[in-house]
This record gives sequence, structure tokens and C-alpha cells, in this order.
Amino acid sequence: MTDMSSFDVIVIGGGHAGCEAAAATSVMGLETLLVTINLDYIGQMSCNPAVGGIGKGHLTREIDALGGLQGRIADRAAIQSRMLNKAKGPAVWAPRSQADRELYRLEMQRELRRIPRLHFYQGMVDELLLENGKAKGVRMDDGNEFGARSLVLATGTFLNGLIHIGRTTRPAGRAGDPPSERLAEHMAAIGFERGRFKTGTPPRIDGRSVDFTRFKPQESDPEPVGFSHWERPAPLPRVRCWLGYTRARTHEIVHTHEGDSPLFSGQIQARGPRYCPSIEDKVIKFPHNPRHQVFLEPEGLQTSEMYVNGLSTSMPIPVQLRMLHSVEGLEAARMTKPGYAIEYDYYPPHQIDLSLATRAVPNLFFAGQINGTTGYEEAACQGLMAGINAALLLKGEPPLVLSRAESYIGLLIDDLVTRGTDEPYRIFTSRSEYRLSLRQDNADLRLAAHGFRVGLLARDLYDRAQRRRERADEARAYARETALSPELVNPMLEAHESSALDQPARLYGLFKRPEIPWQSWMELLTTYDNNMSIVPDFVDGLQQVWLESKYEGYLSREEQRRAEVARMESVALPGEIEYAEIGTLSLEGREKLDRVRPASLGQAARIPGLRVSDLSALVIELARRRSA
Ligand code: FAD
Repeated sequence: MTDMSSFDVIVIGGGHAGCEAAAATSVMGLETLLVTINLDYIGQMSCNPAVGGIGKGHLTREIDALGGLQGRIADRAAIQSRMLNKAKGPAVWAPRSQADRELYRLEMQRELRRIPRLHFYQGMVDELLLENGKAKGVRMDDGNEFGARSLVLATGTFLNGLIHIGRTTRPAGRAGDPPSERLAEHMAAIGFERGRFKTGTPPRIDGRSVDFTRFKPQESDPEPVGFSHWERPAPLPRVRCWLGYTRARTHEIVHTHEGDSPLFSGQIQARGPRYCPSIEDKVIKFPHNPRHQVFLEPEGLQTSEMYVNGLSTSMPIPVQLRMLHSVEGLEAARMTKPGYAIEYDYYPPHQIDLSLATRAVPNLFFAGQINGTTGYEEAACQGLMAGINAALLLKGEPPLVLSRAESYIGLLIDDLVTRGTDEPYRIFTSRSEYRLSLRQDNADLRLAAHGFRVGLLARDLYDRAQRRRERADEARAYARETALSPELVNPMLEAHESSALDQPARLYGLFKRPEIPWQSWMELLTTYDNNMSIVPDFVDGLQQVWLESKYEGYLSREEQRRAEVARMESVALPGEIEYAEIGTLSLEGREKLDRVRPASLGQAARIPGLRVSDLSALVIELARRRSA
């Protein structure tokens, strides 16, 4: 019987980070309490009802590979799924799906309630209880207290949240939710440095008032891939999204009302996400762009409400309406919810280490938007890692720190901790030095072993990933050994205007031809070798090899770089090192190293602006200590 006043772990916040953290700690065997302002809003998508996209889809696949929830929930709630970037190389293919917002939330809640050691309490945390530099529980706004051996804070945009619509401001965590103010002040009082960011959301409209003939439909892929490696839920009915554009009139309205926008009137000072700009930002900063895209995205199967992606704004409501009506096809649109901007506190991430534990309070973990990121996927992956590491800490095991070379999750956390961020951070494939090997199609091969080792991923799922790896190895050998005759392969090559063979050639070499799509190889090979059709894993493995063959040279360069970086990463920097006392370091170097406190020489080398001479000084200092 659980003592309802004391737990192993308390997770504060039921957003994307909090859900993953709470699931991870409880599945890993720890009694966990998830406290959140409103239990009905657990798993709520605060902004658009979509998961994935370029970089973000990679994160969701990685979360799934480790045993996290987001991929499975997104697949169960998907009402449109597409693989983006299909026209480009497979390294940047990215799954994205439109979710039924209501269903996503309900599925997340259903999944969490199935976990035996996970408990729930509705309320606002006002204070963390600390003793001798360690967290030992929380105090709620109803006076109740809960004890815990470790805490995960995942309070999103709620800390001192302030909504702006035109000149009107109102404290809120997001539309319809109260802000978290006492906790924000308490965190400052106990010494956490905070910053201020902002984000925004567009108005929602009633789809029954849209003239869809003025928009271009975007269909779901006929055979959607989805996010989860482990389950394929029965598909829900598929819906269309719609693409339209702003017009000159829209831009005129923005210019006329520039002074009414809190972003330009000086009312909002905080930085917003550069890659999700408001329509005001786009029109004013890119005046030569005659039009901007507007996507209409359905909010669900049971509602006619639509999300107007591309028109994020905090203009006064009458101006929002005029902007909407200026878009072709939206002349008669009825607004159901206005857009708004929100400012909130975040904690500059030099205050956490690579396990996401705070440096000041080692059993307190930070995850999600509060670390300066933006996006569901960015939040969820941090929640997952914070949960895993909170559990490992209590089990007396070393933390799981994923490297940049093996995952986008590792890259995101390393970027935050080592480089910091002065604007809301979102993931991009271009941030990775290893993007040809960190593909969405091989997340399970890269990460399932970690998920299994820490006790999050079930054995049968891990075994499945292992089998897939073995099949890929077999397929690699098959492709390198099998020679195809000109008689067999030439008709297909000629059909794609690819030069014909005059003697047999190895499959692996033929795979490199960019003009031949995978589908054509599939058709040819299944006729040639009937066995393939009965071993789908083998076909899948062969597709992996087909992908790899295209990047062979680059992949081996990535491999070399990985080995070099691994050497630097293996040189640990002692936690207790006093940089201020190393006279051979520059003053600036001492400050930077002390702020980040890198775990290894490799991490130190990535600190922006750290001089080569400082790195050399560190190497010499380490050698001196070893010989002392
Ligand atoms: P959230 O999802 O915000 O969840 C926070 C949770 O903490 C909530 O459950 C809340 O109830 C709980 N909580 C807060 N304080 C307390 C407390 N004191 N005690 C107990 N519980 C507490 N992302 C993009 O990628 N692109 C966008 O364009 C974009 N626009 C956005 C627009 C708006 C208006 C908002 C609000 C968010 C937007 N986002 C956008 C961000 C996206 O919603 C977040 O990145 C994501 O939800 C963060 O997840 P999280 O788990 O960190 O926090």
C-alpha cells in the first residue's frame, strides 16, 4: 500500500515533459506522484495539434525507441500522417502527423493510468521543500505537503505566465489555465537564475465558415509510417489539411496596426522562437515577401474547429478578425478562439548538467520548456531523460547521458547545457554533425539497448530491435555478395534511364544509383528471390542498406569524427575542479568553464568561444594532476 504522503519521485507538471518523466520513473519501479494544476488537462497540446516534422519527428522516434510515450500516443491519435522531405535524401525524411487534440490528451491519460506505481494529485505546487541542499518534497496551494526523494520540475510556460492580446494582458499559464506565480517567486528566492521568453499561437476558426475551394488540399500519405517502432494502431479516418496564402491586404492590415502589436509596441520585451514567428514578425521583417503560407489544420474528428497555422498573432481581436478575413477563402471565417502571445520565466540551462539534474540541488531535475526550449517533442525528450535519470539516481546507478553522436536527444541536451540559448531552442537536423547516421529510420537500432538496460523498454520490444539489427547485418552481407545479371536488371535500369550493365554487378553497388527508387528494387528483388516476401524484417533491413549505400563515403567520415570525439569525451574533467585557481587559463576561459562545468574535455571543446589555448591549458592541468 502506497503511503500517500511520501513518494520516491514527484513530477510537477502534466505536460509533454511531465508525462514522459512520470511514466519513466514509475515504469522503472519507483512510486511516483504526478501533480498538476488540472488532471483533465494532462497531455494537453497547448498550441497546434501536430507532432513531428523535420528534426522533431526524429526526436519522437528516439523517444519511442527508448520506451517513451509520445510516438505511440501520436500514432493512436493521428488523423493525418505524412513523411516530409521525401523529395530530398533519406537522412532528412521526417514523419509528421496531425493529431485529434482531444484524443491525444485522453490517450495519454489512459496510458498513464495503466501504470501501477503512478499516482496523481490535482493542485498547484507553491514551494519545493528543501533540506541540507536537497529536495525532499513539495508544498501545495491547498496546504497539503508531499515528500519525495527526488523531484522533476516540468512546468512549461506557466511560471509567471502573462498572456498578451493587443494592449490587454492577463496572467495565465496558457489560455484557460492559471499562471504559476508563487512557485516562480519561490524558485527565484532559493537562488535559481531566470530569464524571460515568449511564444505565441494563432486564432482558431470554425471550419464550416471556410471556402475550401480557395485552398489546396494536402492528403495523408496512403501508407503512413507513423512514429512507433512497436505498435501499429488501427488507423482513424484521415483528414485533409489545406494550404492557402496571405494577400497584400493582410500585410497592409499588419502595417497599419504595427503599433497595436505588443511585439512592436514594446509591451513584450522577451525573445520568441525565431522559427515560429508571428505574422507581424514575418510581414514587418520580410517586407519584400508578397505572401506567406497559411495552413488550415483540423483540430479533431469530432470538432469543426481549425488551427490557422502561419497566422500566429497577438494583435487586438478586431485586427485578428480583419487579418483572417483578408485571406482568400477566409472572407467569412468565424473565429472561435483568438490568437495570443505569452511571456514566461525559464531557467538558463547552464544551471543543469547533462543528466538534467540542477547543479544547485542534485536530486531536483528540470525538464521541458523551463530549460529554454520550445515544442512538444523537445519537451517530451527532456522529460523522458529527466525521469530516467531521477530513477537511476535513486537506484544508485550512473546517469544515462546520450551522446551527440548517437541521438538528437543527446545533441539537444548538450547544446542546452554547453552552449546555452538566448532564444527558445528548437531542434533542426542541421544542428547535428552526424545527421546522415542519425536518421528517423534507425532510432531503434541506435537507442533501444539503452531503453532496455535502464528498465524502460520491455524485453520483447528490445528483442525485436535486436532482430531488426541482425536482419540489417544479414541484408548488408546479402547486398555485398549478390551479383545481379544484366538480363535480370537491365529492363528495370532502362525504365529509369539508368545505364545498362554488360556484366553481372553487385547489388550494393547498384543500390548507389540515385535514379532508382526503393520501390523498383523491391519489385525486382521480390521476383528474383521469393524468400524475401516471407521475411519482412529482411526486406526492411535491405532498405536500411539501400539508404546507407547512398552515403557510404560521408558515413565513414562521420564514423571517423565519432571516434575522434569519443577520445576527447573519454577524458573526464573532475567535478570538483576549481577553474578560478588554474592560473594558465584566461580569465574568460575560467568564467566559461565555471559556468558550464563540462563533464569531459570533449564537452569543454564545444563551449562557444573557449580558446584553443584554454583547452591546451586544461590538458596540461589534467596531466599535472595525474602525475601529482
Ligand atoms: P507544458 O505543456 O506547458 O505543461 C506544463 C504543465 O505544468 C501543465 O500541465 C501545468 O498544469 C503544470 N504546472 C505548471 N505550474 C504548475 C505548478 N505550480 N504546480 C503543478 N503543476 C503545474 N511550440 C512549438 O513548437 N511551436 C509553437 O509555435 C508553439 N506555440 C505555443 C504557443 C503557446 C501559446 C503556448 C502556450 C505554447 C506553444 N508552444 C509551441 C510550446 C509547446 O506548447 C510547449 O513547448 C510544450 O507544451 C512544453 O511542454 P512542457 O511539458 O514543458 O510544458
